[in-house]
Amino acid sequence: KKYVYLFHEGSKEMREILGGKGANLAEMTRVGLPVPPGFTISTTACNDYYSNGKTLTESMITQVNQALDSLEKLTGKRLGDMDNPLLVSVRSGSVISMPGMMDTVLNLGLNDDTVKGLVELTQNPRFAYDSYRRFIQMFSDVVLGIEHYLFEQEIDHLKEKKGFSEDIELSADDWKKIVEKYKKIVLNKTKQPFPQDPKLQLEMAIRAVFDSWNNQRAIVYRKINKIPDHLGTAVNIQMMVFGNMGEDSGTGVAFTRNPSTGEASLYGEYLMNAQGEDVVAGIRTPKPINNLKEINPEVFKQFVEIAKQLEQHYKDMQDIEFTIEKGKLYLLQTRTGKRTAQAAVKIAVDLVHEGIIDKETAILRVDPEQLEQLLHRQIDTSATTKVIAKGLPASPGAATGKIVFDADKAEQQNLAGEQVILVRPETTPEDIHGINAAQGILTTRGGMTSHAAVVARGMGKACITGCESLKIDLKKEEIWINGEFTLKAGDVISIDGSTGKVMLGEVLLIDPELSDEFKELLTWADQIKKIEVRANADNPDDAKRSREFGAKGIGLCRTEHMFMDSKRIPIVQKMILAEDIEERREALAKLLPMQQSDFRGILKEMAGLPVTIRLLDPPLHEFLPNIEELLVDITRGMYEDKQENDLSEKEKLLRKVRNLSEFNPMLGHRGCRLGITFPEIYAMQAEAIFNATVELKRENIEVEPEIMIPLVGHVNELKLMKELIIRVADKVKAETNTNFDFTIGTMIEVPRAALTADEIAEHADFFSFGTNDLTQTTFGFSRDDAEGKFLQYYLDHKVLSDNPFVTLDQNGVGQLVKIGTKLGRNTKPDLKIGICGEHGGEKRSIEFVYKTGLNYVSCSPYRVPLARLAAAQATI
Ligand code: ADP
Ligand code: MG
Ligand code: MG
Repeated sequence: KKYVYLFHEGSKEMREILGGKGANLAEMTRVGLPVPPGFTISTTACNDYYSNGKTLTESMITQVNQALDSLEKLTGKRLGDMDNPLLVSVRSGSVISMPGMMDTVLNLGLNDDTVKGLVELTQNPRFAYDSYRRFIQMFSDVVLGIEHYLFEQEIDHLKEKKGFSEDIELSADDWKKIVEKYKKIVLNKTKQPFPQDPKLQLEMAIRAVFDSWNNQRAIVYRKINKIPDHLGTAVNIQMMVFGNMGEDSGTGVAFTRNPSTGEASLYGEYLMNAQGEDVVAGIRTPKPINNLKEINPEVFKQFVEIAKQLEQHYKDMQDIEFTIEKGKLYLLQTRTGKRTAQAAVKIAVDLVHEGIIDKETAILRVDPEQLEQLLHRQIDTSATTKVIAKGLPASPGAATGKIVFDADKAEQQNLAGEQVILVRPETTPEDIHGINAAQGILTTRGGMTSHAAVVARGMGKACITGCESLKIDLKKEEIWINGEFTLKAGDVISIDGSTGKVMLGEVLLIDPELSDEFKELLTWADQIKKIEVRANADNPDDAKRSREFGAKGIGLCRTEHMFMDSKRIPIVQKMILAEDIEERREALAKLLPMQQSDFRGILKEMAGLPVTIRLLDPPLHEFLPNIEELLVDITRGMYEDKQENDLSEKEKLLRKVRNLSEFNPMLGHRGCRLGITFPEIYAMQAEAIFNATVELKRENIEVEPEIMIPLVGHVNELKLMKELIIRVADKVKAETNTNFDFTIGTMIEVPRAALTADEIAEHADFFSFGTNDLTQTTFGFSRDDAEGKFLQYYLDHKVLSDNPFVTLDQNGVGQLVKIGTKLGRNTKPDLKIGICGEHGGEKRSIEFVYKTGLNYVSCSPYRVPLARLAAAQATI
């Protein structure tokens, strides 16, 4: 088995085996870019390492030694050689990039002897001892598991003693002293001296990198980003180049385009006299890349050219790590850059205009789920707010929340339903769970290319870094602002990740605008997609928004929301509590004009497009007060000596509520079962729809009402309701002397309906799969109970791989959709079929719906753009 590949043996096509970093280092080597030489231990080795009970097999070790030999020949240096030591980095790199989640060790190969060789060789003792102490520090942290801060402390002590404020001020002797202190810490903590044998160091580092695949933060990151656990990481061993050799050396990171906005200009940062870790770990705040132009114009020019070349080569925006050693440029990594939704859209569209990719590729480049970010509300910049500080705009978006100073607390408070802003001096990848839980992230140190910023952008979280006017006191849990005033944990702040502004309290938010690029991309999507996208909308405002977002009709208009209005609820209750049909008719007569104006508003907004209106669906007791509250009221009344009369009213109500209450409302008296037993309710609704239709028709507004009967399980249910509605229609036509068109269809949301869809189709003009209820009735789960009680457990323990209420369960519920579609079309080949419910806006479900041959999906207004894109992707 081949486990080890020299860089020149690989290519970018080999990322499964070499991991992303390894494959791209190989590719860059192949095309002749200046990459320090090295080799990659494959992801296969990682998986075999795990299946062998975490051991490096003999074959792996032999192959590593062979590759090391080649590397030594290539570089003319030898690992552990006193005179000319080879130093390497040992770097993790998985198939799907996980910035900063796994471990890397730099400067490996240094020990008490080779460090002297390095001094001789470079005539730069300061550099040599700085490198050595960095190595001990990283190795101890990553391989030996000794806390980082123990080492940082030593540096702080020494600086304090000497009255220095920057690391740069420390001399060779200072670093030498620190090295001795570090070795003591290691001896103290591990009861063993710091390993001096470079071969042993290497082996330990390789194992540590493999192990880091399963460290906590990597596991959390994989879970959040749905990356499979079995992929494993590769290990890259690469000759070190040094950015910390003096002021003619440096290190940096740059994106070929702005990963926040997508703007086509280089976006990056660098630090002179530093090693790569200093930038990506966010420990120091680096300088903007354009400053490099003044400091070293040649290197800058070379870098700009290489950046362009890489982007052309990969046909996508790249995130590039580089180091300058004594004026010479080296590339250490390139990868497709993580970006915000806004940037993803702009870059995809720009690349089409630049002729680099085609429209289909552009459509596939944007993740529909990510688009939701663009549809979030944004800060109203015209409103006045108190700006208390300004940092670097690291990831756009607005966020408001309570200040929290640590990741665990952020997670706890988020679980308790609070919105929080995670405020840290710097964030490390260990804070990943806190970043995930927070609305936004604010750090006082670190640049825009730090891992924290990269991760935040990938997750669409607002983030500000390098906000140096804030001083954080983690012990007291306080922030000092310009030395003027303080904020405490729990105080509310807002951050604007697009401008870097930190504001006191809450801010005003406004609706987002779709960018021109976004609109253009969606136009391309519309040309390609083969199913329609409609929206679920219950009121004229939502209808209007849906239309703006490109919905081609309403697929589900729920009428119960119209009943919930505070002015209407008393009338609705009267209707429900009515002792006889007369009383009920009276109440319904009051509701009629209200419903009519609702329908009028919605139908008018959707002029020229179909509107599917579902008649009343929920059980009636949902409109009544709940039993507990009533009981409390009644008992109170008895003690407070309320009037006889009042009490009996309440008691009457209680009796009715008790009467109506059900053991299992989801399977109870609802949907068409209500319509059949209380036909006057559906009759009223139908009349309201038809009256509105007539009104609009008279105003020459074109409307297409589609009446939908919920919860049908037997064809007779639909037949009865259809007759009722046609009766009402005929009545309205006669009364108004106006003719109009409408259709009657049904929801397919219980298994029996799907299984007898051929019979049902005889009487239906259309089907709409109500996949929320269909999922409940197929699994026999009650959604409200499942989500809180056992579904999370199921997902955590992989009993189910996905939440069936989020993505359609294709093997189970999906089968019913297929059967229902097939049977329905056996009876009526042109039967129009759609789905409504949460799944209609989810990309995998949309793909399924397309493949099953449905005509449309319907989803919430804000997901319409996303669904349009996903519908196009399904066809590519
Ligand atoms: P991460 O995945 O955390 O970014 P990397 O393996 O990319 O880890 O390494 C961390 C930092 O160390 C990066 O800035 C990288 O450029 C730098 N680095 C890695 N290998 C070398 C090397 N051989 N010479 C100089 N710098 C290196
Ligand atoms: Mg990196
Ligand atoms: Mg339903």
